[in-house]
Amino acid sequence: MPVSLPPTTDKRTLLGPIQARVSVCVKCPHLARSRTQTVFGVGNPDAELMFIGEAPGADEDAQGEPFVGRAGQLLTKIIAAMGFNRADVYIANVLKCRPDMPAGVSGNRPPTPDEMQTCLPYLAEQIAIIRPKVLVALGATAVEGLLGTRSTMREMRGRWHSHAETPLMITYHPSYLLRNQAPAEKRKVWEDMLQVLERLGRPITEKQRNYFRT
Ligand code: SF4
Repeated sequence: MPVSLPPTTDKRTLLGPIQARVSVCVKCPHLARSRTQTVFGVGNPDAELMFIGEAPGADEDAQGEPFVGRAGQLLTKIIAAMGFNRADVYIANVLKCRPDMPAGVSGNRPPTPDEMQTCLPYLAEQIAIIRPKVLVALGATAVEGLLGTRSTMREMRGRWHSHAETPLMITYHPSYLLRNQAPAEKRKVWEDMLQVLERLGRPITEKQRNYFRT
């Protein structure tokens, strides 16, 4: 459904009221009860490039910022290898609250399709305001939340899709690379990011082209 915008062009100003609504959202009562805080998104509202993950984990819930745990640190390294600062891009999740866990159980669980569909309108508003040139979805769960389709990463990654009339690249979630540290897996993600750089018209050095070649 198209999102109508108020008549101001300052994107930070436009995002503010959405963030305020998210911060008090109780559409998922179980998540509103269990969260420390909502995790709206971070980065440059004028970004050309926007990364989308699935949901906050324990670290993100504690700090109120997406991708700050180990996987987030790896994402920051990938962003730097692409020639950006983390503050140049925009990073958000489909779900703005950490999926709840049973009392006394550590770790994170993936969001359910229902939870993601409930929260998705907020992300749609963010994308409509930021209007990045390229979206990158990180992992199959984020893709399911964003596109409503479930498939294997093997089938989806490495080629262009579209969301909200914006080119969408699908690649592995950085946590996958933490579990599978083989250079060949890193190279797959890197090849996806090279396609993103090409689409953005960014210069690519020979050194960058050869990262993680085995
Ligand atoms: S996950 Fe999204 S929709 Fe659900 S309570 Fe949190 S902010 Fe609201």
